[in-house]
Amino acid sequence: MMFFADRMLGKLAKKLRLLGFDTMYLSQIDEEKILELCKQNGRTLITRDRALHMRALKDRINSVLIHSDKWREQLIELSMRFDLRSTEKMTRCSLCNTQLVEISVEEIRDRVPLYVQDTQNSFFMCPVCNRIYWAGSHVQHALEEFRRAGI
Ligand SMILES: [Zn+2]
Repeated sequence: MMFFADRMLGKLAKKLRLLGFDTMYLSQIDEEKILELCKQNGRTLITRDRALHMRALKDRINSVLIHSDKWREQLIELSMRFDLRSTEKMTRCSLCNTQLVEISVEEIRDRVPLYVQDTQNSFFMCPVCNRIYWAGSHVQHALEEFRRAGI
C-alpha cells in the first residue's frame, strides 16, 4: 500500500511513514502533478480537498477523502478503509520517506545519548538525511498513540 498525502496532511504523512507505509508528501506541488504521480506509482491519494478527490476518482485513481483536521482522527478515518496494523514498523524515515537501514551500536556511539545506547539494541539510519531511529523514541510514542486510537 502506497500513499500520497496532499499538502494539508503533513503530520498524517509522518505518522504513516512511522507505521511503515511508503507515503509521498510534497508541500509545493500542483494538482496535475499529484494525480500524475499517483497514477504512475499506483499510489492512493489521501486528501482533504473534495474537488481534488473527485478529480482523482474520475481519473480512476484510488482516493480517500479525509474530513478531520486532527491527525489522530485522520488515522482513524484511514484505518476504516485500510488495515494499518499489518506493516513492518521502523522501516521508513518519517521526514523523507526513505527506507531505513539497520546500523550497529558502534556506528552511533557519538550520536545517540548514553542512556539510549544502554537500553536499546537496534538502531536504524536514514541514508538520505542521516537521522537515527530507535524503537524507544518517537516510534514507541507513535505506536502508543495508535493503540490508544484503536489502530
Ligand atoms: Zn530521511
